[in-house]
Amino acid sequence: MNKSEMSTNAMTNPPQIIAHRGASGYLPEHTLPAKALALGMGADFLEQDIVLTQDGQPIVLHDIYLDTVTNVAASFPGRQRADGRFYALDFTLAEIQSLLVHERTDPRTGTPVFPHRFPVDQALFRIPTLSEEIEFIQGLQCSTQRKVGIYPEIKAPAWHREQGHDISRVVWDTLRHYGYEDLQNPIFVQCFDPVETRRWREEFGSRLPLIQLLPEETTAIPGTIPSLLTPTGLKNVAQYAQGIGPAIGQVMTLNGSQVEVTDLTKVAHDTGLLVHTYTVRRDSLPSFAQDHDELLDMLVVRAKVDAFFTDFPDLAFRWRANRFSPHPVRKY
Ligand code: CA
Repeated sequence: MNKSEMSTNAMTNPPQIIAHRGASGYLPEHTLPAKALALGMGADFLEQDIVLTQDGQPIVLHDIYLDTVTNVAASFPGRQRADGRFYALDFTLAEIQSLLVHERTDPRTGTPVFPHRFPVDQALFRIPTLSEEIEFIQGLQCSTQRKVGIYPEIKAPAWHREQGHDISRVVWDTLRHYGYEDLQNPIFVQCFDPVETRRWREEFGSRLPLIQLLPEETTAIPGTIPSLLTPTGLKNVAQYAQGIGPAIGQVMTLNGSQVEVTDLTKVAHDTGLLVHTYTVRRDSLPSFAQDHDELLDMLVVRAKVDAFFTDFPDLAFRWRANRFSPHPVRKY
């Protein structure tokens, strides 16, 4: 990019950094140490993926399964379903909190998904409840005198409903209990299911800022997502949500040897929607980016996204401090 492009953008608002499952490039995802590290590295938001236990408690875990990040198979042999998977919903909170958490593995092979991250044989961590995590973050806000946002995702709401649980209502009750509905602390609530996201606004009457996630594979929620990506679809999203959460590949694509910005961000902005894209990973870059900083230049300076999820909040913070100076975001 040329210098004028950079300096023009440097006058605009810097992007916000969302720590994807915490500083998950350095510590196992969704552990409290990974959240503390992300806050210390300068993230503006800390993400929570949320699923329910058998006794209806919201826990912070990416998958509806336990077997990719814990020792559940060794601790509870025979408790898997017919598909061979161990579901969080089949275990009580007490059982789940007895498990040890490790770096993410491929359930078919047992090998680490990211081989150069935290050693997979060092399972030193536990799964937090949503309440424990919020109290931990609010404690850190107090001790550091720094506001940091939370970014809860409602995982698989239709599946939870089929299993007899209303996960959105449980999470909404928890967020209200901790005062987030007062909008005094930064928060976005995110969900891939557009019916469920709309429900927060229309059925619950929640005032919380909502992000409509867009799955990378448009077949993930049949019949809904391609229509969301049209200008009319985005206008419908703007009726209930503050923004969209597209994958990087929906914001930028490779056309031959040329990297092109799609029109998604511009159309979303014209519709009044924020764009929070996922996921920046130093150790899993898209083919069109030579390195981490070039990817952020593309996403923020060229494509003009408003925020991005990253596994490496320290690299994002350093990049932002270099690109946007003097830096106006971090407040102590
Ligand atoms: Ca997520």
